[in-house]
Amino acid sequence: MTRVAIIGVGLAGLTLAHALRDRAAVALFEKARGVGGRMATRYADPWQFDHGAQFFTAQTEAFRRFLQPAIEAGAVARWDARFAEFDGPDQAAHWQWGAERPHYVGAPKMNALAKYLADGLDIRLATRIGSVEPAGNAWALADEAGADLGRFDWCVSTAPAPQTLSLLPESFAHRTAIADAPMRACFALMLGFDDPLPFDWDAAHVGNADISWMSVNSAKPGRDTAPSLLVHSTNAWADAHLDDDPEAVTAYLIVEASRVTGHDLGAAPHIALHRWRYANLPKRSGAPALIDPANRLAACGDWCIHGRVEAAFTSATALAGALAPLL
Ligand SMILES: Cc1cc2nc3c(=O)[nH]c(=O)nc-3n(C[C@H](O)[C@H](O)[C@H](O)COP(=O)(O)OP(=O)(O)OC[C@H]3O[C@@H](n4cnc5c(N)ncnc54)[C@H](O)[C@@H]3O)c2cc1C
Repeated sequence: MTRVAIIGVGLAGLTLAHALRDRAAVALFEKARGVGGRMATRYADPWQFDHGAQFFTAQTEAFRRFLQPAIEAGAVARWDARFAEFDGPDQAAHWQWGAERPHYVGAPKMNALAKYLADGLDIRLATRIGSVEPAGNAWALADEAGADLGRFDWCVSTAPAPQTLSLLPESFAHRTAIADAPMRACFALMLGFDDPLPFDWDAAHVGNADISWMSVNSAKPGRDTAPSLLVHSTNAWADAHLDDDPEAVTAYLIVEASRVTGHDLGAAPHIALHRWRYANLPKRSGAPALIDPANRLAACGDWCIHGRVEAAFTSATALAGALAPLL
């Protein structure tokens, strides 16, 4: 059977593995200790935060079909949030999400969809790929310490574009398309509280501020955790302050979120910050996935299309369609 190595176990890697598992011997490698990539959840008992993707939609029939078993298994749930639009500190609009345009989350945490999909796959966690080198007719993968991880007929990277660029060999035919992907940064501020939050919204977009999003994480379906608020910076602010002192970033984002909500959030008993260097990117035109049959190398991920969960699925599905006849 053709041996396929997939680097990265976010939604793109998992989608691809499911599509190819009956045609090839698929091995997945993930540098983190868990699956899900940017569909991530962090615990700080008694609090829990989805600090990457907040929710996702399913615009295509293909993604809706893909999600259905996970919905039936309870790993994905519809989030009918009370949603607010803020213009600086002013609440400009307020409505409730519903069935007409469903918003989904992993349940009871964002990485639950990835955990559901990971079942039965050959996944090596805590394994950061350090090199992909030619070895006869195959690709030899090694970790950062140089430990041999095996030989593969095909190697596919689903890591964010800049990481894919540094991983795939110089001979890969589509390096320019990867280098052109304009990935943006984002800070996630995590605030845990003892008492319920006094807001009339569960999720909010924010304009005219250096924060872009707030959500009451504990209000998502299936969460049985203490009150928690997740705040995202704008991409522009994060890009400009990427290497600032984390304490200064934390302090600034608390002030900004307090200004927008009209509540002093600095007294939260739990305060943490996460920096996403490669968080998302605007919509791109171009190929939904990159395949180089002569070298038996390929790449896919949200960054081929748009910084969205569904785009990761669509990119991986496009790659699976192109790869399948070649295996
Ligand atoms: C702050 C933030 C907010 C977001 N909000 C939303 C939202 O509300 N709605 C929405 O639809 N989308 C949102 N997104 C985007 C969404 O999370 C992504 O589009 C989607 O999860 C990307 O999936 P992926 O599989 O393409 O990439 P990833 O999930 O990034 O998976 C790639 C994997 O590759 C691994 N990796 C990288 N290098 C190596 C290596 N050398 N060796 C082994 N493994 C490696 C990484 O650890 C990662 O797990 C958000 C993202 C962030 C960060």
